[in-house]
Amino acid sequence: MAVPKKKSSPSRVGMRRSGHHLSYDHLVTCEDKACSGVRRPHHMCPECGLYNGRQVMVTKAVKTRLKEAAKARE
Ligand SMILES: [Zn+2]
Repeated sequence: MAVPKKKSSPSRVGMRRSGHHLSYDHLVTCEDKACSGVRRPHHMCPECGLYNGRQVMVTKAVKTRLKEAAKARE
């Protein structure tokens, strides 16, 4: 059986466990009605690129939506 060479310090244990609280339970749904994406709180929606009701990034989904709107106008 492999045995650890040194006892891990409380600091090391804390560092290892720092990501343990991250889970899917903390995801929230996008505020945009047309988008069905889930995002992390206080983060941009990866689907539509919306943050706090403001477009901060043009994502693939937005590009296709804009293309469809342009096609409908023709
Ligand atoms: Zn979204």
